[in-house]
Amino acid sequence: MSDVLARVREMFPIMKADAVLVSDHANVRYISGYTNDTGVLLVTKEAAFLLTDFRFLFQAQEEVKGLIQVVDISSVGYPAMVAELCKTYGISKLAFERETVTYREFEEYRDAVSAVLVPIPKYLSELRWIKTPEEIEKLRTAEHIGDLAFSEILPHLKPGVTELEIAAKLTYFMQMHGASGNSFPPIVASGINSSMPHAMPSGRKLEKGDFVTMDFGCVYQGYCSDMTRTVVLGKADPKQKEIYDLVYRAQTEALAALRPGKTGMEVDAVARNIIAEAGYGDCFGHGLGHSVGLEIHEDPNCNTRETRILKEGMIMTVEPGIYVKDFGGVRIEDMVVLTADGYENLAFSEKKLIEL
Ligand code: ZN
Ligand code: ZN
Repeated sequence: MSDVLARVREMFPIMKADAVLVSDHANVRYISGYTNDTGVLLVTKEAAFLLTDFRFLFQAQEEVKGLIQVVDISSVGYPAMVAELCKTYGISKLAFERETVTYREFEEYRDAVSAVLVPIPKYLSELRWIKTPEEIEKLRTAEHIGDLAFSEILPHLKPGVTELEIAAKLTYFMQMHGASGNSFPPIVASGINSSMPHAMPSGRKLEKGDFVTMDFGCVYQGYCSDMTRTVVLGKADPKQKEIYDLVYRAQTEALAALRPGKTGMEVDAVARNIIAEAGYGDCFGHGLGHSVGLEIHEDPNCNTRETRILKEGMIMTVEPGIYVKDFGGVRIEDMVVLTADGYENLAFSEKKLIEL
C-alpha cells in the first residue's frame, strides 16, 4: 500500500497541489484498503489519513494498511478535521476530486480550510487502470460467477415468465455463488424491448420468437463483472439470424484485433465497420466497450473517440450490438484482460446463437 501512496504523491506536480483529498470511493479503497463507502482520504507529502466516523472506526482500523492513520471525525465533522490537518502539515494547495465532491461539500471545505482548493479530474483513477494479478483473479472469479448464473438461467427462459423474474433469478444465482450483489441492476429485455440497449426489466412476459437480451454482472470481493448474452425463445427467424450472426462476427473480429498498443478507437472501428458495411451502422449507437474493476464503468474505453493506448493488464469489455426499432436487438458482451500479445477472455458462456 505504501507503494500506492508513493504513486499518489508523484502526481502532486500534475495536480499543482501539495496534498490531495480523495473522495472517490473506489480510489479511497484502492489506495487505503478501506472498503466502506463512508470516509475520505487525505494524502500529504509526509503523511496520510483515512477520515471516517465512529460507526466505521473498527472496520477502518482493521482494513487500512501501512502508513495511513485512521482519524475519527465524529466530534467535529470532515471540513474542520481536514482544515486542522492541513494547518498542521502546512498545506497551501489542496487538490480535491471534482467528479465526486458535491457543490455543498465544496462550499463547506472552502469555508473551513485555509489552503486553496484545487479541482482535479480523474487523475487518481488512472492508478487503477492496470490491474495487479490479485485483482485479475477477483475479476476472473466475478466473471465466472456470471457464467454460472447464465447456464442456470437458461432453463427458466420460457414463455409466460416476466423480465423482472429473470432479473431477480440472475441476481439470486450470482449471490448463491458468492457474489456480494449486482455490479449494476440486471438488464433483461425481451421482444421489442430488446431494441433498447439499456431497457429496464419490466413485467412483460416472454413470448415464443422473442429475442431475450440479458446484460448482468456481480461484485466479488469488491470487483465487478459484466457480460451480455442474447438468446431466442424458439426458432430464430431469418432476420433474427442475420442480426445475430452480424453481431457475433463483429464481436469475434473486434476481439481478434484487441491487443496492447492499439487505441480503443481502433478496436471500436473493427466492429463498427463490419456492422456499417452490412447496412446496420445506425443501429449500433454506443461504444464497443469499457474497462471494469472496482467500478463497473472505468476508463479507458473502446469507442469512436478513445485515443488512449491499451496496455497489458487492462480489463476491457467487448460488446457490440444492433438495435432495430420496432423489431428487437442483439448484444454480445465478454469481459477480457489484455495480455502481452492479445487478450484472455474471462467469459466462457456460449456465444453461438442459442435457440431455446
Ligand atoms: Zn454489460
Ligand atoms: Zn459493459
